[in-house]
Amino acid sequence: MYPFARKKYNIHMIDKINQLLAEIDSLKAGKAEEIEALRIKYLSKKGEVSALMNDFRNVAADQKREVGIRLNELKEKAQERINQLKESIENNQSSDDNIDLTRTAAPVELGTRHPISIVKKEICDILRKLGFSIAEGPEIEDDWHVFSALNFADDHPARDMQDTFFISRSPEILLRTHTSSVQTRVMEKQQPPIRIICPGRVYRNEAISYRAHCFFHQVEALYIDKNVSFADLKQALLFLAKELFGADTKIRLRPSYFPFTEPSAEMDISCNICGGKGCPFCKHTGWVEILGCGMVDPNVLENCGIDSKVYTGYALGMGVERITNLKYRVKDLRMFSENDKRFLEQFESAH
Ligand SMILES: [Zn+2]
Repeated sequence: MYPFARKKYNIHMIDKINQLLAEIDSLKAGKAEEIEALRIKYLSKKGEVSALMNDFRNVAADQKREVGIRLNELKEKAQERINQLKESIENNQSSDDNIDLTRTAAPVELGTRHPISIVKKEICDILRKLGFSIAEGPEIEDDWHVFSALNFADDHPARDMQDTFFISRSPEILLRTHTSSVQTRVMEKQQPPIRIICPGRVYRNEAISYRAHCFFHQVEALYIDKNVSFADLKQALLFLAKELFGADTKIRLRPSYFPFTEPSAEMDISCNICGGKGCPFCKHTGWVEILGCGMVDPNVLENCGIDSKVYTGYALGMGVERITNLKYRVKDLRMFSENDKRFLEQFESAH
């Protein structure tokens, strides 16, 4: 009687396991609460699988292995099936329930042009009206194109590492400190007439502050032909100033020195903030400096293979940041390179 009863009990356990396995395989649930109910029914402490686990101690020793394997299989299957149901509910929610087809599409944010790009383009457009066209060159340059060809003395402070970023000393490779190097390259390749604008980024070894940065942007212009005079330069400068800052703008030229021009001058415009009356911005002088200019030094023309007895020319150059500050009253140069959207969004341009 005893062995028979044990055998029967085991058959009963196996049947029950098979029955539950079939049941679990075909479980269905559409909501999280239904899944939780199934979990309680099968896997909680008082659930059907746990009940079988409790009965396991009554299984005959020689059957324990087989029944144990089936029981574990059942437990894993139940857990797996419930996890599957949970996942399918989560997937359905994200793919179906959360889509609202009546909602308006997310607005596409349009970017704005960087203020430096806006002003650089404006300067170039004005000079284009005078017949200039754009020329470009490398930012990594050699000593000849940045300094030597442009008549810089061997002991000029710009050649010092304090002022210039050198990449190598021998040969001297450096980051250009002005876009005049593009002028050198054009003059070497092309005979006059030359009428070019050189916009671009330049680098100087400066401590970064609100009024200085280690890189900034320049636009330079160069005009070489027969009979180009200082009067031509002055007329171009007046036109540029009026186009940039308004028809009432006045200019004045102060003598200055640059290695590559002779004579040289710096140009001031009547302060566009106070209209020339005097304010803290113009230090109460009524004038603000905006660019440097002059007649191209004959040495520079000769260095580049242009006959200085036949040709003359003028050059002018300005910092784009400086002009942008004047036009938009940006007080801190660093804002131009911080990429803060709140700053950049204020500059809208139709260009
Ligand atoms: Zn002023």
